[in-house]
Amino acid sequence: ETSEESGPALASSKKTSEPAIFISVDRLPEIQDSRLRLPVLAEEQVIMEAVRENSFVVLCGETGSGKTTQVPQFLYEAGYASGTGIIGVTEPRRVAAVSMSHRVAKEMNLSTRVVSYQIRYEGNVTSDTKIKFMTDGVLLKEIQKDFLLQRYSVIIIDEAHERSVYTDILIGLLSRIVPLRNKKGLPMKLIVMSATLRVEDFTENRKLFPTPPPVIKVEARQFPVSVHFNKRTPLEDYTGEVFQKTCKIHRMLPPGGILVFLTGQAEVHSVCRRLRRAFPFRRGEGEEAATDSSDEMKKFKKAKHKRTSLPRIDLDNYSALPVDEGDEDRLAGIDDEGSDLELGDDAADTEEKADPSLPLYVLPLYSLLAPEQQAKVFRPPPHGARLCVVATNVAETSLTIPGIKYVVDCGRVKKRFYDRVTGVSSFKVSWTSQASANQRAGRSGRTEPGHCYRLYSSAVFGDFSLFSEAEITRRPVEDLVLQMKDLNIDKVVNFPFPTTPSAEALVAAEQLLVSLGALEEPPRTGRVKEMERARLSCPISPLGRAMASFPVSPRYAKMLALGKQQDCLPYVIAVVAAMTVREIFEDLDRPAGSEDESSKLAQRRARLAQMRRLWAGQGASLLLGDLMVLLGAVGACEFAGCTLKFCEENGLRYKAMLEIRRLRGQLTNAVNSVCPEVGVFVDCKMAPPTESQVVCLRQIVLAGLGDHLARRVQQEELLDPKWRNGYKTPLLDEPVYIHPSSALFKTLPQFVVYQEVLETTKMYMRGVSAVEPEWVPQLLTQYCHFGSPLETPSPWLCASTGRVKCHSTSTFFRCGWQLPAIEM
Ligand code: ADP
Ligand code: MG
Repeated sequence: ETSEESGPALASSKKTSEPAIFISVDRLPEIQDSRLRLPVLAEEQVIMEAVRENSFVVLCGETGSGKTTQVPQFLYEAGYASGTGIIGVTEPRRVAAVSMSHRVAKEMNLSTRVVSYQIRYEGNVTSDTKIKFMTDGVLLKEIQKDFLLQRYSVIIIDEAHERSVYTDILIGLLSRIVPLRNKKGLPMKLIVMSATLRVEDFTENRKLFPTPPPVIKVEARQFPVSVHFNKRTPLEDYTGEVFQKTCKIHRMLPPGGILVFLTGQAEVHSVCRRLRRAFPFRRGEGEEAATDSSDEMKKFKKAKHKRTSLPRIDLDNYSALPVDEGDEDRLAGIDDEGSDLELGDDAADTEEKADPSLPLYVLPLYSLLAPEQQAKVFRPPPHGARLCVVATNVAETSLTIPGIKYVVDCGRVKKRFYDRVTGVSSFKVSWTSQASANQRAGRSGRTEPGHCYRLYSSAVFGDFSLFSEAEITRRPVEDLVLQMKDLNIDKVVNFPFPTTPSAEALVAAEQLLVSLGALEEPPRTGRVKEMERARLSCPISPLGRAMASFPVSPRYAKMLALGKQQDCLPYVIAVVAAMTVREIFEDLDRPAGSEDESSKLAQRRARLAQMRRLWAGQGASLLLGDLMVLLGAVGACEFAGCTLKFCEENGLRYKAMLEIRRLRGQLTNAVNSVCPEVGVFVDCKMAPPTESQVVCLRQIVLAGLGDHLARRVQQEELLDPKWRNGYKTPLLDEPVYIHPSSALFKTLPQFVVYQEVLETTKMYMRGVSAVEPEWVPQLLTQYCHFGSPLETPSPWLCASTGRVKCHSTSTFFRCGWQLPAIEM
C-alpha cells in the first residue's frame, strides 16, 4: 500500500536530488497485519512528504504508536538508503538500539547484515548495512571523524524527549551539519522523534533552527485512562504500598496486565519476590515463571557461558541515563501521612495469603536485566495467568509492553545528582515529573480503557515539576566541552544547545581542561573583558587532541596520555578501564531473601574482603590504594581467563569484568593510534607492577585527579569530633572520609586523591590513592603558589632533567595548605 500512495508524490517532488526510487519490502503477512494497526502507518504519507520538503522534521507520538520501528522502514522504502547514504537512528539507551534493530530486521524480513546496530562495545554493521541503530554517543564519535557524516542520508534522533546530553548535543550539531551538507549538494535530513509533546525547546529555539521545523503529531489510538490518586501519600514504605495495591488489583479487578513502576533494581526484585510468594505459580502452569529471578540470572549466565560464540548484548546504557543502580538512599520527609488504599477492603493485611486459583505471572524489567529475560515481557503470559511486570522507568517510553490494563505508579524516580560546585554525586529517589507520571499512566490505555493507581495524592502531583529537567543541566560537562573543542567549536557558550548548560558549569569545565593541559592557557595579561572572553574560548592543545581521542572522561584521558612512562601503559589502561566501569564488585550488602541466603552472603562478604586485602598488596603497592585493588582484581581475573566461576567465587561482577576487558582492548587501540611508537598490547598474563612502576602510577593518577586532592585533618584542627579521621578538600566545608572497605582505611595517608565523593550515610571518597606531599608542587604546578616565581614549566614526571630551580615554600593555592619545599 505504501508504494502506490507515495509514488506519485515522489515523482512530483520539486527537488531533483531527492530519491525517486522505491524499494519493495517482502514482509510476512502477520507482520503486515500488526503494522497496519499502528497509528504511525496512517501518517506515512504526511511524514514522508514533510521529509521530502524539509531538512528538519519533528515527529511526536505516543509511545507504542510505531515511530521507532516504522519510520526507518518508510525511509528505506522511499529509497533513502538506496544511494550511497544509509539511514542512521540514534537511541539514548543501548538496550533500545539492540532490540529495535532486531525487531526492524525481523519486520522487514531482512538480515541483520542490512538492519544492524552499533553500541559502545559491539555491533553487527557490515558493508551491506542500510539501517543502522546506534547509541547517541556512537554517532557523536563518528562526527569527530567525519563532520559531514557523509555515510548517512538521514539521521533519526529517537527518544529526544529523554533529553540525554548526547541527544541534545547531536541535535545542536546536526542543526549545522545538515545545512552544510545541503550547500555541498549532498542533501541530508534530520528527523527528531519524541514521545511527549514538549518540543518547544527544539522548535522554538531560533539559535537551533532559524525557521521552525514542521511538527507532525501522530494521534495514537489511546483509550481513556481513569487515574486514581491516593488520598494520602505514603512517606517511607512505598514498596509495601505498591505490593498491596498490586495484590488488590489482582484479586478484585477484571483480567488485564499490570505494570508497576518502581525506582531501582533492588526494589523491583523485592516486590517481585513478595508477589511471587503471595501468588505462587504452580510448576507446569507455564515455564519457569515462579523461579526467583536470581536463579533465572544464574541460568542465563550459565547458558550464555556455554554459548560464548553468540554476540553478547550489553544492557548497561550509556552514561546518559536514568540510573537503576546505586545507593538506596530514600528521599525523606515528603509527607508524613499514613497510607490509604482505595480499592475498598481494609488495608490491614500486610503479607497476602497464597491463592492458587489466581495465577499471577510476575516478571521484572530493568535496564541491566539480561536480554533473554527482557524479551519475555513481549510474549503472552502462560494460559490463564495475569501478566504483572515490575519495572523501573525503562518501561516508561523505551519499551512498549502489550496487554497492560492497570498501572501502579509509585511516583518516584531514581536519579544521580551532582553538586556542581563540589562535584559530589549521590543517587536520590525523588518525585518524578507530571509529564512522566502521565506517560506512565498512558501505558495502561493501549488496547482498552485502563486504570492508573497513583500512590500519592493529587496535591502532591500538583507540586511535581511539569517536565523532567534536561540532563545537561544536571551534570558536569568537561567531557562534552573537550569533545566540542576537538570539533574546533572553541566558543562552547555560543553552541546551539537545545538547553544551554549553566555558565558556571561551562566555566568550571573550561578551567579543569586548562588545568589538565587539554586547552591552551588563556592570556594572563590584557584588558579584563578580553581576558574573560579568552577564558571561555581556549583552543584545544595537542595533548587535548590526544585526550579527546580516548573514550573516557578527561581526567582519565590525561592518565592515558601520560601512561607510556616507565612502561606503565598496560597498567594505566587496566586501571582506567576499571574506574570507568560502574561497579566491579558484587553488591553483597543487598538484603537477603532468607536466612540461608543471608549466611551465604556473609561468607561471600568475608571472601571478598580477604581478596581485596590480597589485591591491595603490601608495602609500596598498598599506597596505590583502591586503584591497586582494581588493578589486582583485573589482573587476577584475566589471569584466570575471566570466567564466570572466578567472578562468582571472588565477589566480582562478571558483566563488569567483561566490560573492562572490552574497554581495555578499545583503549589499547586508541592509545596505539595516538602514539604508534609505543606499541602497547593487552596482556592477559600481565605481571604485577614493580615498586618503581607503582610510584609512577601513583604520580600519573595524581596528575589526572589533581583537583581531587584531599588532606587529612591535622591534630590541631580537630576541634569538632566529626572531623576525626576526616579529610579536607578544596571545595567542601564538610569532612570527607575514607570508606571502611577502602584499602587505605587503616593507613589514613596525609594526602590522597580520590575518584569521586559519593554521599551515602556520610561523604565517602571512592577510589582513593595515597599521594606524597612533595609530588603536589611538582606535578600540580597549576594549583600551587610558590615562594619565588616559577620560570620553567614543570618537567612532567621527569627526574632526569636534573635541578632546574629551587623554591623555598609552596602552598596549594585553593586552601593555602603548606607543602614541602621542593627542588626542581
Ligand atoms: P514507538 O517508538 O512509537 O514507541 P515502537 O515502534 O517502539 O513505538 O513500537 C510499535 C509496536 O511494536 C508496539 O506495539 C510494540 O509493542 C511492538 N514491538 C516493539 N518491539 C517488539 C518486539 N521485540 N516484539 C514484539 N513487539 C514489539
Ligand atoms: Mg520508540
